[in-house]
Amino acid sequence: MSLTDRELTVARDAKGFMPDDEGLALHAAGCDGGRIGPLLEIGSYCGKSGVYLGAAARECGTVLFTIDHHRGSEENQAEWEHHDPEVVDSRTGRMDTLPFFRRTVEAAGLESVVVGVLGDSPTVGRYWTSPVGFLFIDGGHAEAVAMADYTTWANHVLAGGVLAIHDVFERPEQGGQAPFHVWQRAVADGFTPLATTGSLRTLRR
Ligand code: SAH
Ligand code: MG
Repeated sequence: MSLTDRELTVARDAKGFMPDDEGLALHAAGCDGGRIGPLLEIGSYCGKSGVYLGAAARECGTVLFTIDHHRGSEENQAEWEHHDPEVVDSRTGRMDTLPFFRRTVEAAGLESVVVGVLGDSPTVGRYWTSPVGFLFIDGGHAEAVAMADYTTWANHVLAGGVLAIHDVFERPEQGGQAPFHVWQRAVADGFTPLATTGSLRTLRR
């Protein structure tokens, strides 16, 4: 199972926060969970991780749903560490990553596989009922936001399915602690740790 040359090139060139080794590990985890059911991502941004996961969905004959309001997390806003002025809508001064996401998915040839869901994660979650084989949590990294994504979505992962969490740092000097707290909560809830690649951690339900 692997990405096509086109998918790999587009994934590597896209704006985002996913080093290639973690992206390839994410793809492998997506192929694992994709055997059980559809893939779901929280935090699409410009589609970079969505290409690694969309390729996995394509290979499994399933789809990737990816949720984002495309207005950026707190840490993506101006004056913050992960801000990119190119994704600001000059008309309003607000972030808008949707056009970038759309172009990335188009360039990768994954429009029939990657289903963008435009909206606030807990709001979408209030109405969501479909089980998934794979869940990737990579939305807002503030404590309450990351934990809300976990409590909203983790219950939808089928037995044998895979949960992936990004930006997990055990020590505060490495980075924010919220994703690590989400990982600890998942373990406490009975998810079994599978693998660690950089800051990407995977677990099985
Ligand atoms: N997975 C992407 C990066 C995601 S960055 C990659 O690796 O390329 C985090 C994203 O989460 C941002 O695009 C932001 O808009 C989104 N986000 C943050 N809080 C959200 C919320 N409550 N609902 C929907 N999206 C949210
Ligand atoms: Mg991330």
